[in-house]
Amino acid sequence: MIPTELSGGGELGEIPHLRLPRPESLFAGRAERFTVLAAGHTLREYLEFLACLEGAQAAACATVRPLVNGGSLARERPLGAASHRRGPEWLEALAVILAELSAASALPEEGRTTLDLLHELPPPELEALADRVLENAVLGTDLAAGPIVAAALQVYFTSLAAQLRENAIAPARDGCPVCGSLPVVGLVLGDDRLRYLVCSLCATQWHHTRVQCTACHSGKGISYFTLERARAAREGGDAEGEPERSAPAVTAAASLTRVKAEACPSCKSYTKLFYAESDPRLEPFADDVATLSLDLLMAEDGWVRHGVNLFLVPGEERSPVQ
Ligand SMILES: [Zn+2]
Ligand SMILES: [Zn+2]
Repeated sequence: MIPTELSGGGELGEIPHLRLPRPESLFAGRAERFTVLAAGHTLREYLEFLACLEGAQAAACATVRPLVNGGSLARERPLGAASHRRGPEWLEALAVILAELSAASALPEEGRTTLDLLHELPPPELEALADRVLENAVLGTDLAAGPIVAAALQVYFTSLAAQLRENAIAPARDGCPVCGSLPVVGLVLGDDRLRYLVCSLCATQWHHTRVQCTACHSGKGISYFTLERARAAREGGDAEGEPERSAPAVTAAASLTRVKAEACPSCKSYTKLFYAESDPRLEPFADDVATLSLDLLMAEDGWVRHGVNLFLVPGEERSPVQ
């Protein structure tokens, strides 16, 4: 979701420490953005698959309605992903997503094998797989199923997060104040005066001080890499993974200013920052996948990403789902 009310000039006024998600438009918006970004992109097939997966999430979100148990929620991380006892609704969301993907004509054969596998897994094994997804410990045979299970978990946690009240949630020093997960990226608003980190799981956005490392909180020596600067730092660089030059104006022009990697020399980690005012259609989660080339360049230079995108497998350019 793209926050707009804080962008533009003028006084910032009171800064909310938290911006809770609006699932009724979130997943449909991501589906639309993935479709736009896929055109002419070197990762077109995978971006189209993710557009399809987001559409399935939107359908699941419209039919599956988990309810929060308000009386027993803690102020600190009320939906802590590691401790929260998941209700059966996340499995219902998974069933809707599997049905939607099965009906999609564009799904390749390997994708169908993954859907069959997930159909046949008994609930205890699905719960164990969900735990591994939430621990970012998806490896080996889980790789293909990971993003689909993650999609169901996102629907579940986002639906619950949307029912909370901002003022009932305590700020957190690290991770999402609602569910404790890592951020996917940062979103810069208000003419570079304000930024929020976006939760990789529940899509909650939380305020984070500018020019400060999101991993170790140091403010010393922070530097910023654009796609062009990261590429220039590498000798003999090529354009692999980059939006093609012949792509529509949205990808070619936006790549100049829409994303930077904020790098911290103290802990050698970086966070991707997206500039909301560079493109009103920007969607943090989708634009993150579409700018994977920046992560590849940063990794080659020895930087470690702080944050995670559940649709991207670490060390892999593409998920094997396609
Ligand atoms: Zn969260
Ligand atoms: Zn740091």
